[in-house]
Formats: sequence, C-alpha cells, structure tokens
Amino acid sequence: MLTVSGLTKAFGGFIAVNNVSFSVGKGEILGLLGPNGSGKSTTFNCIAGMLKPTAGSVKLDGDEIAGLTADATCRRGIGRTFQIPRPFRELSLLENATLAAHFGSDGHLRHDEAEAVARDALELAQLPTDPGAQVRGLGAAGLKKLELARALATRPKLLLADESLGGLDAAEMRQAADMLKRIRDERGITIVWVEHIMGVLLSVVDRVVVLDHGAVIFEGTPREAQEDEKVAEVYLGP
Ligand code: ADP
Ligand code: MG
Repeated sequence: MLTVSGLTKAFGGFIAVNNVSFSVGKGEILGLLGPNGSGKSTTFNCIAGMLKPTAGSVKLDGDEIAGLTADATCRRGIGRTFQIPRPFRELSLLENATLAAHFGSDGHLRHDEAEAVARDALELAQLPTDPGAQVRGLGAAGLKKLELARALATRPKLLLADESLGGLDAAEMRQAADMLKRIRDERGITIVWVEHIMGVLLSVVDRVVVLDHGAVIFEGTPREAQEDEKVAEVYLGP
C-alpha cells in the first residue's frame, strides 16, 4: 500500500531523514521505532504532506504522492495523529471529530453524514459521542484517544500514528495498543505506528523498522528486533 524509497529530508545542512526506504502491505501494522530525534515524525511529515521531502519517493497504491499537500494526502486516504494533541479545546469531542470528517471528505459530506462518521470514529476510540462531552477534563489518555478519533474520522485507509503511548501509564499503554490492533482487525486499516519505546508495541505489530540518526538500521519481525544487537545498542547504549 505504501512504498517509501530513498526518502531524505534536510533542514539546512542537517539531514534529519537520510535515504529511508520501507514499505507497508495492505492490512499490516508496521512499527517504526527509534530514539528521540531519529527522524520518525519528520518521516511522517514527509509522507503526509506537512513537509516536502528533499529527495525520494512516496507511493500510495502505486501513485507518487511525495510533495502533495496535507489536505491532498488526506483526501487520498492517509490519516495521521500528531505526537502533541492539539484539539480545538473550546469545541466538544463530537465537533472536533465532525470537523475532521468534513476535512477528510473535502466538504463532500452533508453535516449529518459527517456527524455519523464522527460518532463512529469516537466509538472506535472509546470516547463518548454525546454532544455535551467536552475536551476540557480529558487526561493524557483521553487526548490521545481524541487524536486517534480525529484521524479515523477522515476515513483513512492508511493510519500514521505518532507516539500514541506518550504520557500513558502501563494499563493505558496496553489499552492503546489493543485499540490500534482492533482498528486494523475490524476495519482493515493499514497502520504505521511510531514510538520511541518498544514496550507493548512489539506485541501488536507485524513488522518493525528501526531508525537511528535518520537512517534505517533494522528491519524485521518483533522477535528479531528484540534479539538484534544494533537495536539493543540504540536503545540501551553500547
Ligand atoms: P523523532 O520524531 O524521531 O523524535 P524528529 O523527526 O522530530 O525525530 O526530528 C529529527 C531531527 O530533525 C531532530 O534532530 C530534530 O531536532 C530535527 N528537526 C525536526 N524538525 C525540524 C525543523 N523543522 N527544523 C530543523 N530541524 C528539525
Ligand atoms: Mg517524533
């Protein structure tokens, strides 16, 4: 479904993503791991159109999408969550998700249709759908769920999830991992899941790609990742 080839992003003289290649098959969950600053979010930004790649190709179902804008990649079926949730805090959960549904449909949904899509996305993210439910009072886990619901409301075929475990306790991490698995299993949505820790991610993903200093240093199964020396060095030091 997604093929990234030779993706490179330079900020001035600093190369944040360096000749990165990987692919994701339809219905797969790929874990994209790497320490802080290794280029994970920049890779997502290049795929989803928040940044223009310096070089390389990004193909979605065979079509070149590198360099498209964020709204164009969204219309083509790429949904993403951001590491730092920034919902509209003065709007309700339902309004936040409904706006996302309108955005994902490029304005082609009637308002009641968008709201139905939004309710479904909120339910999938295990959030309340009643119009009175507000963003205020959501904790870290709730904000992460809302971030997921907003991405799901754009009705993606490919979901890019950026650090869905950040700020969560152990039980919440387990719940978040199970949620991503359910989104794939029940809706057939292909997922690339970025984290800087391995943790519960390894129990859910089909395959793992590890970045270090902007470059791919490992690709394999979760089991192979746990046994790989290069991966251990990046996570535990030499
Ligand atoms: P990760 O998500 O893996 O923690 P990022 O992709 O956010 O890493 O960042 C990779 C590197 O690129 C970091 O060194 C970061 O400081 C740098 N970087 C990210 N965005 C920018 C930017 N807009 N301008 C300059 N440097 C950036
Ligand atoms: Mg990041």
